[in-house]
Order: sequence, then structure tokens, then C-alpha cells
Amino acid sequence: MLDMESSPNQLFEVAVNAPLKGYLTYSAKAELELRPGQAVTVPLGSRSAQGVVFAQTKNPGDFEIKDIKDSSSEWPLLPETFLRWLKWLSDYYIHPIGQVAALAFPPLKKKGQSSKSKRLPLFPETSKQVNSPPQLTDEQLLCLKGIESRPGFHVHLLHGVTGSGKTEVYLQLLQNVLAQDLPALVLVPEISLTPQLIARFSARFPDQVAVIHSHLTEREKTTQWWDMVEGRKKILIGARSALFCPLPKWGMIIIDEEHEPSFKQDEKLRYHARDAAIVLAKLHNCPIVLGSATPSLESWKNALEGRYQLHQMSRRVAEREMPKIDVVDLRETRRQRRDPDHPLLHSPSAAQESALPFWLSEELFKELQVTLQRGEQAALFLNRRGVAQTTQCSACGFVYECPNCAISLTLHKHRDLVCHYCDYTQALGESCPACPDGEVKALGVGTELIETDIASLFPQARLARADRDEIQSREDLEELIRSVEEREVDILIGTQMIAKGLDFPGLTLVGLILADVGFNLPDFRSSERSFQLLTQVSGRSGRHSLERGRVLVQTYNPAHSSLLHSLTNDFSAFAEQELEARRQLGYPPFGRLALLRLQGQSLAAVEQAAERLSFRAHKLKSLNAKYQGLQLLGPAPAPLIKLRNKFRYQMLLKAQDSQVIRAFLQQLLEPQKWLPSGTKVQIDIDPINML
Ligand code: ADP
Ligand code: ZN
Repeated sequence: MLDMESSPNQLFEVAVNAPLKGYLTYSAKAELELRPGQAVTVPLGSRSAQGVVFAQTKNPGDFEIKDIKDSSSEWPLLPETFLRWLKWLSDYYIHPIGQVAALAFPPLKKKGQSSKSKRLPLFPETSKQVNSPPQLTDEQLLCLKGIESRPGFHVHLLHGVTGSGKTEVYLQLLQNVLAQDLPALVLVPEISLTPQLIARFSARFPDQVAVIHSHLTEREKTTQWWDMVEGRKKILIGARSALFCPLPKWGMIIIDEEHEPSFKQDEKLRYHARDAAIVLAKLHNCPIVLGSATPSLESWKNALEGRYQLHQMSRRVAEREMPKIDVVDLRETRRQRRDPDHPLLHSPSAAQESALPFWLSEELFKELQVTLQRGEQAALFLNRRGVAQTTQCSACGFVYECPNCAISLTLHKHRDLVCHYCDYTQALGESCPACPDGEVKALGVGTELIETDIASLFPQARLARADRDEIQSREDLEELIRSVEEREVDILIGTQMIAKGLDFPGLTLVGLILADVGFNLPDFRSSERSFQLLTQVSGRSGRHSLERGRVLVQTYNPAHSSLLHSLTNDFSAFAEQELEARRQLGYPPFGRLALLRLQGQSLAAVEQAAERLSFRAHKLKSLNAKYQGLQLLGPAPAPLIKLRNKFRYQMLLKAQDSQVIRAFLQQLLEPQKWLPSGTKVQIDIDPINML
């Protein structure tokens, strides 16, 4: 045993940035004065690696102890509570602690920080927003007071209809946090981090706002990060990764659009930023506010049961009414046009009698005419890019598939076939590759086709399209928003990319081309997602006009519950029905899930991995009484059995509580020698993406 008092060397547990379970022990001279939270460089095998000191230890372990090479003041000391949070992430999501800790550092060292970036300014220079806060409505005031009446750690769920003024409530909450000289964190979905939003915050809090998003250069990110750590800025707005900015204490954390699936990271450390933020707020003993017009059922259930404080706003500000939503039954449209009912529902047909494109109802067409005559703006949404959903041979039924993914290719620009998962592209041939006399025809509708059709119906109208083909950079998105704001666009056509958070004063008509996209995805959350999308999309209409905004929803399923409840804006009725369905099946928020995904380039190897996993899992379950209640589903081929050239199988674990799942997984997966070579297993705790 080493004698710590007299020895000049001290021992430390270091979280090394490598796929290792737990810490490694290293030694260092006492004069280095290493402390927990210090970034260090350590030898690892024949190379060196980055790591973070987590604790001093007296236990030398079983291995030869090497010296810490270097400690650096280029990285800040990670605060004690922050280390505890990293440890929680590592334990809960079953991810190597050193790889979790590596996320807490900016991309670059501090040096060279002053170099000016030549890219777009981070903050729009002119801001149309007024600096001074408006008088709050009664509902806003009640929510503000309600949240502020409970200092310390509480989870507040702010449920307010679209346009009810949630953002204004955040701004006034932040005002009071700043007055206490504390910093605050605001997380929003990446797609909502628009110049509009940033301008709104920075106009209210000039020079106090730092922003972190994925389109910043590494140097910009590093600068923003140090501005927070060294206290030059007080409010950090960012997408989920901003959580990793290591402040010793937050005064408040706000998660806007808390229901958004993009808060869940889908690779490496598969954390949910909302859940991780709640744990962080608890460690900091600070309030956390979750805001949404359509809360996740997880949060909603917590609020109903009193674990979260519920604050509600049921009306839009300034007497503005919620939009009027009408449903167009496309089955009826089809009957009137004597369009034979094609099994794929949306094929253009020669028998069609209407002069309108097959995807456009008379009702929506008339509304578009009226809107344009009045000089107002309209938006058409469809969650599908391209000209057509797919192509099919009219003689033999052949469908082009992606060679890398088990998915059919989508037609773009009338000649390219594109995979929406891996971007594989090939040209559409003249004839069917599978039969001698067939012709390959487009099936279904995509945003490109809508744009072409609308352009010929309304040649005078100025159009803009917003989907992943048109909008490929942040600059593209900013330019699009500007042109719609400045009324250079009459009809905006896009995917859900533009359904979220945008606030265009002139927009009074929203048309949803086909609500059914997404109703029947093989995911237990598909109804919830559809409800959210319908609510978000219709929430874009009539946000500023005194006259009521209009929404037209085209669908083949007018009786779908997601649709019925969104018409009346009745979130709680929808939630009640959906919760009951989840309860019966033991799905979240009633049970907890973990997804084990097996992947590899050889189908045979992946199938073998699945067999072994199944055997191990059932054996482990049968040997332990504590795993009685655990349900094992699969392994079975994933809905997308092949993706980017990898075959995929998955097994779902369902249990009453997450402790059981974690204990089971720890036992099941260690050691991983049972995996056939060339295969890997990924763990996803509380999975969101089940495809
Ligand atoms: P939400 O975040 O709930 O969708 P916002 O905070 O964006 O709503 O508010 C909708 C619109 O109403 C915004 O243009 C905002 O500036 C305005 N607004 C919010 N609160 C008030 C208020 N108390 N008085 C006047 N206008 C307000
Ligand atoms: Zn593909």
C-alpha cells in the first residue's frame, strides 16, 4: 500500500476518452495539485488520450500505474455537480464515462479565441422586436407567478396553445433570473434556432445571449462556450448539446417544445436532453420549465399525477382566435371526380374529371384563390419530399429499391431516384428493368410536384419551397424566412421543416395536403406524433391577424383520433384516450423501454447474433426472480431491416421500472464475447426512434 502522506505521488481515477467501462487509475506528482474535474492527458497503451480526473483514490488497482502526462488550463475545471451529472448519464444510458465526459469540452482549445470569424453575424443586426416587455395577459401572469412562487428544484410544465405567449413568459422568467445574477439555459429544437428566435431574446437582453448550434464553426462554438463559462454572457440558447456547457450553477433551465423527438440523440450517447436537463436541474436545485402546446405523454402524466407543476394557457394573446380547422374528405373528392380507387390512393388517373391536380381538392383550391386575392399568404405542408413518393411498373409492379437500405426510392426532378435515408441516387430509366413491356410510373405526391402544379394553377403567385432539397444550410433557411417575412412569397410549400415555431404575420391559410402520412407508422407514438404535427401546422395560421386564420386538412381518414382531437384543440381529451391505449399495452409512460439493436454487414452474422442474444436474455430472465416482470420482445428484424448497408435486428425490453432494465442489461451484455465477429450491439434506453 502506498503511503499517501509522505509520497510525492497521488493516485487518481480518470475517465479516459475511450470505449472503457469505468475509470482508470493514474498517478501524478502532488505539486501538480490535480483536482476532480481537471482535464488531463494520459498514456493509454502505446498512445495518449484525453481524460478527466474524477476523484483521488488510495486504491492502486490491479494494473501497473502510469503517470498523468499533462494537465491543461486550456480547458476549464469541471464543477463537482457537473461531474455527478456526467456520472449519472454514463450509468443511466450505459455509456463509457470517459466518452460522456469528453462532451463537456468545446471543440477547440481556448487559445486563438480572439480570431474573428468571417461568417454570418450570429445575431441579426436589426431587430424589429421592441426591447421592452409587453404587459402580460392574465393567463401569462398567472403562469409566471405560479412558476416563481416555488424556488428551488421543481419541474414546471407550461402547456399553452400555439400563440398563447409561452416565449414571452420565458423572457420574463429570464429577466428575474438575471436580476439574481444567475445564468440560465434555454434549450430549443435545432430547427427552431432561427434568427427570429435569437433576435427576440437578444433584443430583450442585449449582449447577454450566447448561442450554440450545430452550424457554428468550431471557433465560434468555443467562443460562445467560454463566454458562458467565464460569465461574460448570462443566457445560453442552444440545441440539446448546450446542456454540456459546464456551469457550476444554473438559475433556471427552460426546454421549449419539450415534446420534440429531436431532443433525443440518436447515436453514441443516446441521451434525451429533456430528461438529462431535469436531472441537472435537480443537482443544481434550480427550477426547470418544460413548454409545449402538445406536451409529451410522459410529461403530461407526470403533471396529472402532481410530480410536475402544471401551468396552462388556453387562449392566444390579444384576443386572437385559434384558427378555424376544416377537414376535406379525400374519399369524397375522389368519388366526385370518378377517380377509380387506386390501391395506393394517390395515383393520377386518366378518368379524372376535374381540372385540378389529383392531390388538390376544390375546397383547398378555392381557399388559395381567396387568400391570394386578399393579398395574404398561404402555406402548404406535406411530409414528403420529391416529385412522387415512389415509382412502380404498371405491368409487373416492380418498385425501385435502394441497394443500401430496405426502402423504395423517391422520384426527384422527374428523373432521379433518391434514397431518403442514405442519399443514394440513380437515374430513372426509360423502361422497366424487370419486365419487357412495362412502363415505370410515378405514384403519390411530394413537395416538388406540389410546387410545379401550383405554379401552373397560379402563374402570378410567388412561390417558395422549403424542404431538405431546397434548404440545405442555415443560410438558406434564414433567407427563406426573411423572404416570407418581407412578403416576397405568396405561397410557401414545404415539409415539417417549416411547421415548427415560425411566426409569419401575413400567413392566414394553412393547407395540409395529406394528413395521413404518418398515421400508421410502426411506432407506438405515431398517433401522438400526428396530433403534434397537426397542432403545430395549424398553429402557423392567423397568428397576427384579427380575422381568424384558416386551416384545411386533406385526409382519407377523417375519423382518425389524432385528427378529431386536433380539430377541437383538445389536447387533454386526446391525451386521455392515448394514455389508456398505452396503459393497456404497458408502453411508456406506463412502462419503461430499452431497445437493443444488432447490426452488421452480413445478414447471417446478425441473425446469429440475434439467436445468441435471445438465448442469453431468456436464460438470464428465467434464472432471476427479480426479472420476472420483464418482457422480452424479439429479437426480430427492425422495420428498416437494412440501412446504409447494414442489416439490423432489434430486441425490445419492457419493464415497470428502469432500474430493472438497467440491471438486466448490465448482466446481459458483459462480456460481449458472445457477439459474432462483424456484429455490434447498440443500447438505446428510453428509445424514441423505433424504426
Ligand atoms: P408561443 O410561444 O406560445 O407560440 P409567443 O410567445 O410567440 O407564443 O407569442 C405569440 C405572439 O404574441 C408573438 O408575436 C408575441 O410577440 C406576442 N405576444 C406575446 N405575449 C404578448 C402580450 N402579453 N401582449 C402582446 N403581445 C404578446
Ligand atoms: Zn439508402
